[in-house]
Parts: sequence; C-alpha cells; structure tokens
Amino acid sequence: MSDWQVYPWQIGLWQGLQQRRSRGQLPHALLLSGTLGMGKQHFADCLAHALLCESPLADGHACGQCRSCLLQQAGNHPDYLLVAPEEEGKGIGIAQIRALIEFQSLKSQYGTARVIQIQPADRLNPAAANALLKTLEEPAGDTVLILSTARPASLLPTVRSRCQQLLFRPLLSPDPASRQWLAERLGPQAGELDALLQASGGAPLRVLSMIEGEELSQRAQILSDWQAMEQGRESPLKLAERWEQLGIHQVMHSLYGLIADMIQLKLLSDAARLANPALRGNLQALAEQVDLGLLDALLLRVQERIGLLQGQVKPQVILEEILLAWKQRRV
Ligand SMILES: [Zn+2]
Repeated sequence: MSDWQVYPWQIGLWQGLQQRRSRGQLPHALLLSGTLGMGKQHFADCLAHALLCESPLADGHACGQCRSCLLQQAGNHPDYLLVAPEEEGKGIGIAQIRALIEFQSLKSQYGTARVIQIQPADRLNPAAANALLKTLEEPAGDTVLILSTARPASLLPTVRSRCQQLLFRPLLSPDPASRQWLAERLGPQAGELDALLQASGGAPLRVLSMIEGEELSQRAQILSDWQAMEQGRESPLKLAERWEQLGIHQVMHSLYGLIADMIQLKLLSDAARLANPALRGNLQALAEQVDLGLLDALLLRVQERIGLLQGQVKPQVILEEILLAWKQRRV
C-alpha cells in the first residue's frame, strides 16, 4: 500500500465516492466523521491528492508521480489549502476563514480542482463557522471542501446540513484485507487482534498506538528490573518468572532492542541511533557494568532464542538462561 491509498477498511467509502465522481456528482462539501483512530485524516489526504492529480489511477487514487502529485508531496501545491488550529488547543478563527474565502475565489493554477481541508472541523469558533456557511453552500468553481471531525455533534447544525456526511463506522469484525493489514503491524500480538479491536472501540489506528504505548512502558519496566538485578535487589530466577508473565515474544524483542542499544552506546555513544533514546541514561549505566564481548554474545543468544520460541523450550527457562548469563558475565 502506498502513502496515497486509503486503508483497507475505508475502501467501501472510497469506491462510493469514486462512483459519484465518475458521474460528475462529487459533493463540493464533505464532512468525514467517526471516532478517533479510524484514519479519517489519511482518507482526507488521499482524496485531496486524488482530486488534484493530473492522471489518477483506475481506482481513483493519485498517481504519485505527476507534477501535481510532486507538488503535493513537497507540501506546496498552489491549489491546496489546509485550515487547522494555529496552535495546539486553539480554535480556528475568523481570520483563517477570510483567508479561505479569498483562496477559493482565485482561479485554479493547474486547471484541476481546488481542495480545502478543515480539520478538526469542530474547532471552528462560532464566528468562523458562520463566515464559512456561504462558501460551504456555494464554493467557487471546482472547489471541494473536506471537513473532518470526531465530534460531529459539536458542529453548528447549519454547517453539518451543508455538507455531505461520510461516516467512518467502527471496525469490529474486520474483513480479510483489514485483518491482514493489522496483523502485519501487530507482529507477535496478532493473536489478540480481535480483543484489541474491541478494547479500542473498533478503531484500528488506536490499536496501534495502544500497543506502542504499552511496549514503551514495558521496555522501561524491563530495564529497571534489570538494574535491580544488577544491584542485587532482585534474583535472576524471580525476574525470569515475572517477565514470563509479560509475554515472552514481547519481552524477547524488548531485550534485543535494549542490548542492541547498549552496544551502540559503547561503540558510538550516539543517542541519535538508539531504538530507545528515552532510556539512554539507564542504558548507559548498565552498559558500563559489562564489556562489549558479553553484550555481543548476549545479543546473539537472544536472537537465537527468538528463533526457538515456537518450539518446545519453556519461555521461563529461556529468560533464566539469559539473565544468569548476564549475572555471571558468561554466555
Ligand atoms: Zn498524480
């Protein structure tokens, strides 16, 4: 999937829009709504690219190669305008809408459509929303306005009623393509895909951010346990037992990343190349306790054992062996 294509769970919505487009019936104001984590923003970007592209593909996606696509990628297409809060936590004010009105009254520079994105649309302040109404009803020329929001109820009814709504429904029983897309990104946790989707309210991108957050805090926990063992406050066997509960696949991948970072620090003391830059201080302290040879041997051992995880060896035994090797400074 290229950056220009919608996510698999959005294909139905995309095809519906393309059919209307081919009949010349694309609405000039669209409101994409649905919970956070559905990828509405990505969909809006794909649509903007497609509308500006000079030679779209058969399925309606942008080609990614024409002059117009290159300008979009560089972030300076003259027929594209993004309207968003100027600062985190601020609203979209009337001055921004005045600029929008002026933009859409100009002639298209490249002869295709002009595209305006407003996101998140629920941040339009009342004066700005009122100033936008006339343009929403009757934009100049081929202008298409794409609004997106996770909170459609916060929009003025007069704004909502002037847009064609495109609803992104939660993904609770994923089709095969969406399932595969998510499974590839979940890696060792793909088996929990359905449970994770339920927990996220059917928002696939939220599943991924949940996993990332968990992984990060788990790596920090592993590192602090490791220091406790190094300082004699925790025994390798107790630790192996506890880590096993965290899920052997994730623990092993975390260990791999942490050891690889210690090696980096010993060789280069270059934080820019670390997989876990936030943990640098603790990684450095641990790395100083051992020599490079031990770290290299441990990394190799962890890598081999990751390859054996599907086999008969008990996860706890694998962890005990690695922790004892560290403690005894001998792999
Ligand atoms: Zn193109």
